[in-house]
Amino acid sequence: MARPTRARVDLAAIRHNYRYAKAQAPGARALAVVKADAYGHGAVAVARTLAAEADAFAVACTEEALELREAGISNPIVLLEGIFEPMELQALDRAELTPVVHQAEQLDWLCEARASKPFPVWLKMDTGMHRLGFTPPDFAAAYARLKACAHVSEVVLMTHLACADEPEHPATQAQLACFSAHAGGLPGARSIANSAAVLACPAAHGDWLRPGIMLYGATPFGEQHPSARALRPTMHLESELISVRGLAPGEAIGYGGRFVCTAPTRVGVVAAGYADGYPRHAKDGTPAAVNGKHTRIIGRVSMDMLTVDLTAQPQAQPGDPVQLWGDLVAANDVAAASDTIAYQLFTGLSRRVPISYSDTD
Ligand SMILES: *Cc1c(COP(=O)(O)O)cnc(C)c1O
Repeated sequence: MARPTRARVDLAAIRHNYRYAKAQAPGARALAVVKADAYGHGAVAVARTLAAEADAFAVACTEEALELREAGISNPIVLLEGIFEPMELQALDRAELTPVVHQAEQLDWLCEARASKPFPVWLKMDTGMHRLGFTPPDFAAAYARLKACAHVSEVVLMTHLACADEPEHPATQAQLACFSAHAGGLPGARSIANSAAVLACPAAHGDWLRPGIMLYGATPFGEQHPSARALRPTMHLESELISVRGLAPGEAIGYGGRFVCTAPTRVGVVAAGYADGYPRHAKDGTPAAVNGKHTRIIGRVSMDMLTVDLTAQPQAQPGDPVQLWGDLVAANDVAAASDTIAYQLFTGLSRRVPISYSDTD
C-alpha cells in the first residue's frame, strides 16, 4: 500500500471562511489571496471553489496568475508585487491582470506600456511597513501620472499594515492616519486590510478586503480568539502509525535522544517528518491526535517520521490514524509549539504529500 501521509483539504470550509471574511465588512469587496499555491492548498482548486463569488483573486506574481488563467479562472487577478520586468507587460495585457505599482521603475514601465485595452492598477503607499510602496510624499505624484495614462482605467489606493495582528499596537493607528493624510483627497477605492485587520480593525476595512490566512481557517490571533471558532479548518495533515513499541524509564527516543522516558512509555512512530513539511523544531509536547484522541510529540522530528506518546492508548497499533493538524489539532497550536506560524506550516507542505479534496457543505 501507498505511504499513508496526505493532506485533506475541505473546500466547503474555504467557501465558508471567504463568506465570513466578507460578512465582517458588508458592502466591501474582497480579494481572495491565493498566492503561494493558495497557502499550500492548491491555487487552482481553491480558485475554482471561490470563482463564482470571489470579487477578485490576489497572487504574488504573473506566473501564479497565468496558472489560474490557464485553468479557466476569469475573475480579476491582482499581482501583489506587480511586475518584475517590462517583458511581463505583454502577458499582463493578454491575460488581463491587475498589477500593484509599488516603486518608480514599475511606474515608468506601466506608463510607457502599450495595451490593447485599458487596465486597472493598484497603487501602494508605504505607511510604515517599510517593505513596498511609494513614500507618502511621493504618492500623489505617482497617482497623477497613472491618472494621466489613457490605458489606465482605474487606480485603487492601497497600503499594508505591519502590526494588525496585535490590535492594541499603536503602529496601526499611525499607519491609518498616514494613509488618510496622504491619500485623503484622491478619488478611488481603498484597500488596507489583511486577515487580521478584517477581523479586528473596522477602521481599515475600506473598499477592498485582502483576506489570506483566514480563508485557510487559521486566525492570526491564536486559538483563544473568538474567530478561531468562527473559521473552519481547511487543511488536515494526516498519516498513520507505522510502528509501536514500549520503552522503559531511562530509554531515549530518536536522534540526539532528546526525549528520555521517565516512566514506562508506549511510543508510536508516525509516517510524517520534516521532508513532508512538518516542522523539525516541534518541541516535546507539540499536540497531535491518534485515533481522534489528543496526544503529544515526544522526541525530535526526523525527515520521514516522528514519534508520539501512546502511553494513554495501550490499544493503539500500526495502521491507526494520526492527525498532525486540522480540525482536532489547530495548526496555530502546532506552529506555536514549533516557534513558527500557521502560514509557514501550510505553505511548507511538501510535494511528496498528495492533496485530496472534499467539497460538502
Ligand atoms: C499576503 C498578503 C495579504 C494576506 O495576508 P493574511 O495575513 O494572510 O491575511 C494581504 N495583503 C498583502 C499585500 C499580502 O501580501
